Amino acid sequence: MELYETNQLKIYNSLNKSKEIFKPIVEGNVGMYVCGPTVYSNVHLGNVRTFMSFDLVFRYLKQLGYKVRYVRNITDAGHLENDADEGEDRIAKKARLEKIEPMEVVQRYTVDFHETLQKVNNLPPSIEPTATGHIVEQIEIIKDILDKGMAYEVNGSVYFDVLKYNETEHYGILSGRNIEESIHNTRELDGQSEKKNPQDFALWKKAEEKHIMRWPSPWSDGFPGWHLECTAMSTKYLGETFDIHGGGMDLKFPHHECEIAQSKVKNKVNPVNYWMHANMLILNGQKMAKSTGNYILPNEIFTGENNILSKAFSPSATRFFMMQAHYRSVLDFSSDALEASERGYIKLMEALNSLDNIETGKESSINISEWKQRCYDAMNDDFNSPVLIANLFEAVKYINLLVEKKETITAPDFEELKNTMNTFVFDVLGLQNNSEQNACDKLNGVVEMLINMRKEARDNRDWALSDKIRDELASRGIQLKDGKEGTTFSIN
Ligand SMILES: [Zn+2]
Repeated sequence: MELYETNQLKIYNSLNKSKEIFKPIVEGNVGMYVCGPTVYSNVHLGNVRTFMSFDLVFRYLKQLGYKVRYVRNITDAGHLENDADEGEDRIAKKARLEKIEPMEVVQRYTVDFHETLQKVNNLPPSIEPTATGHIVEQIEIIKDILDKGMAYEVNGSVYFDVLKYNETEHYGILSGRNIEESIHNTRELDGQSEKKNPQDFALWKKAEEKHIMRWPSPWSDGFPGWHLECTAMSTKYLGETFDIHGGGMDLKFPHHECEIAQSKVKNKVNPVNYWMHANMLILNGQKMAKSTGNYILPNEIFTGENNILSKAFSPSATRFFMMQAHYRSVLDFSSDALEASERGYIKLMEALNSLDNIETGKESSINISEWKQRCYDAMNDDFNSPVLIANLFEAVKYINLLVEKKETITAPDFEELKNTMNTFVFDVLGLQNNSEQNACDKLNGVVEMLINMRKEARDNRDWALSDKIRDELASRGIQLKDGKEGTTFSIN
């Protein structure tokens, strides 16, 4: 029996604005699509939070025993400035400014994206398709929407006819907007817009002569509209209707609204059963913006090279901080909040490390099965990680009292406590125990100290002591090497 059979998971569905019992289309299987990054710059910390939120969802679904196909795309073409249909492709613009090939931009920032998510211990998705790898599929969808009369061609570009669609369907069903409010925030950069109505959005854009990223199509040499790639890739890998679609709150409109419209015209069904939106991250109470300096890159948190935080924070402490807030709440990132989280994270790891020092007894002073179920209940309630963490800290208190022999636990209960802690801390929350790394840092510090003592001895012409330090270290597998820049060492 799988855990999902005895746990009733509820998900807040943004489409119906309520928590609903989760029932996948195919029992035991979940199809989940999350909008990935546009790879034209280093991944934004707010996006890291979004991907971490869906990593938690992915991990918990797996914990419940579901077989999950998690698809997250890479936007490497066709994402215009201001999300509007006029203006320049972000990747092409970056390539032009840096005088490099657009695919060099894509490669550089895809690597950065993967490295950053790996540092915070996100699991890779099951499939990570790219927009440029699915141009053919996108062209096929445009042909189909044109055939059904819901799009029109102007000068080699194709636009979705939102007003016509809205005659029979509701454009704005997800964001709660009506058609008058649904005007795309289009800046008229190139003079007169070709669109019939400001609500319409591009399915295909004809490339200007200077534009480097272009593909042939029946309408022009050009590139697909951004909204289209997610429809093409989600339905290709998950089917016309799938279980979960996730993304940042800011993608609700127009991006996800457009995805629904495209799918409804092409496949005549609702594409998604549960829409999930992760809330945003602010920095020191303000919106993050490069222009105001209220901005920090994920890597700058880990190295400490920034003017925002008091010191460096490990990826695990940073992840723990993110997990302490529910994914649908706004989260304020600050030095004080991170320091508090770091203390909590260390406390949690110390309790886990001290599990080996516990002796079991004849009875348990707390009900372990009931506590374990409360951990599951927290996660079953729309992935409520802060409530889960509160339950874990209840166990930390108990573990510390057990170490001090002020409480007792039976052997089977102890096994259950240990397994449950490991499951939720490492498998579900995705935290890592850095104690090995910490031990390694300490060893390096001690060797550095001995190198300095040896230098002092040599300065005092105390060759006996200097040789003794070198030989004793060598006998322990630590080789010192004297060079122009000073002494370095290697540990075998
Ligand atoms: Zn998308």
